[in-house]
Amino acid sequence: MTCENPGYPLRKPHLSENDSRLWNWAQNGPIADKRAVQSPQNEAELQTLVAASEGKIRVTGSKMSPSRMLKVAGQQDTLVDLSNLSGLIAITDDSATFAGGTPLHEVYEMLTGIGRMLPSSPGVIASQTLAGALATGTHGQGLQQSSIADEALSIRMVLADGSIAEYTRDHRWFPAVQLGLGALGVVTQVTLRTQPLTIYTCFKNAVSADSLEQDLLDWNHDYALSKAWWFPNENQVHVWTAREASDVEIRQYRDNNEELVTQEETSDAMNETIDQTLEHMRSDTKIVDENGKPFRTVTRFKDFSDVTGDVYQVFCRGIATPQINVEIGIPLARAPAVIAKIKAWHTETQPHMHYPIILRCTGPSSSWLSPSAPEATCFFGFVVYYAEDGSLSEEGVNFLQAVEKLLAAEGGKPHWGKYFDASLYDWPALYPEWPAFLEAREALDPQHKFENHFTAALFD
Ligand SMILES: Cc1cc2nc3c(=O)[nH]c(=O)nc-3n(C[C@H](O)[C@H](O)[C@H](O)COP(=O)(O)OP(=O)(O)OC[C@H]3O[C@@H](n4cnc5c(N)ncnc54)[C@H](O)[C@@H]3O)c2cc1C
Repeated sequence: MTCENPGYPLRKPHLSENDSRLWNWAQNGPIADKRAVQSPQNEAELQTLVAASEGKIRVTGSKMSPSRMLKVAGQQDTLVDLSNLSGLIAITDDSATFAGGTPLHEVYEMLTGIGRMLPSSPGVIASQTLAGALATGTHGQGLQQSSIADEALSIRMVLADGSIAEYTRDHRWFPAVQLGLGALGVVTQVTLRTQPLTIYTCFKNAVSADSLEQDLLDWNHDYALSKAWWFPNENQVHVWTAREASDVEIRQYRDNNEELVTQEETSDAMNETIDQTLEHMRSDTKIVDENGKPFRTVTRFKDFSDVTGDVYQVFCRGIATPQINVEIGIPLARAPAVIAKIKAWHTETQPHMHYPIILRCTGPSSSWLSPSAPEATCFFGFVVYYAEDGSLSEEGVNFLQAVEKLLAAEGGKPHWGKYFDASLYDWPALYPEWPAFLEAREALDPQHKFENHFTAALFD
């Protein structure tokens, strides 16, 4: 049972070598004619290219966002591939400057190698670029931190006229530049705050969802980092809560050559629930390989055990699999009421659950367009994996659309780098600083050189 849905594009599992178009990472949308792609070797080349461009310009990182964010369509338009502007540029005791096109895993590897980390926790994967992650408000979990963009101390950009501008935290446009949707200029360097590398012990548990409304708040207030997967059909929650490791746990970790320590004691409390979920995923995706990538994202919850490691070893363990992901931020104070609404809706409609609901909470963000500005926020994440032939399960799609409507009606704000139905949102009402962002855009890019259909529909 698959469908062709205009909201969620189907993917092309096999691209022809003769295809004249460049596609995004998920291969579910073309983003440019290959002849429109330019890969400047350095910042000076980028400046010349931007200044000379007659058409529109969009920039790509790892192309993991929906194609609509990246797409250029006009004859004279340019898609700038920033992969040559990558790597460490400068380092101090408590900061590090990286080129905008640096993949996050290189940022994390470099920092852990010198005993440092970002104060923000990572997302589930680290193949995004630094500038791409900033531009969409990419985040992990934990109330004591917010998005990766919130660790930026200064951001350097090439503006529409080819000039270079540096924005530090005290600059009036900094909260716009932090999360700019690629609509303000090309980010070439980011200086990030760093802190000593902390080792965490993460406790994994399976609990009933009966008291999820209160439990979610307790986990997040009692632990530095927490993440939960809610299985409404089985009324069960798999929860990870992490605190700083004790001296004994740190010693164990050092004795293990600083590799993740996995405790021997395991729990099979999630196994039945995971088997049910796998059954749905198999029938939805028609993938026959038992070890197929989408399945590994849940089989890892079977026979779980506590672990000790650095924040990347514990939390950045995702398996990048083409998917439709919808993630909606709700102010944390309202999260219990929204969980209760989802429970009531689930009981009433018995929707088809393709994957558990992922719950991650963060502290407030200072960027104007962050879904977690200006207050602590709970992100409700929903995923439907593509079938092997590039189609999507009709029931999975119906679920995503219905649940997004429900959360939008509750004042939810969608993750910019994931899928959302823009018609459900009144942006200026959701974002009090929307006019300030528009003012920054007029100041930095008065001709709207960095616009495409997606940003024009948002801002014009
Ligand atoms: C499998 C998967 C897992 C994910 N996990 C998480 C997660 O755990 N947490 C989370 O918050 N998000 C997550 N995301 C979303 C992801 O982090 C965002 O889509 C992110 O923007 C992707 O980074 P990228 O380098 O691929 O950027 P791209 O998709 O290439 O670009 C994203 C935006 O950034 C702009 N941009 C890129 N480079 C620049 C630059 N140098 N200057 C100015 N603008 C620029 C682009 O124009 C575009 O608007 C996930 C996505 C996938 C597919």
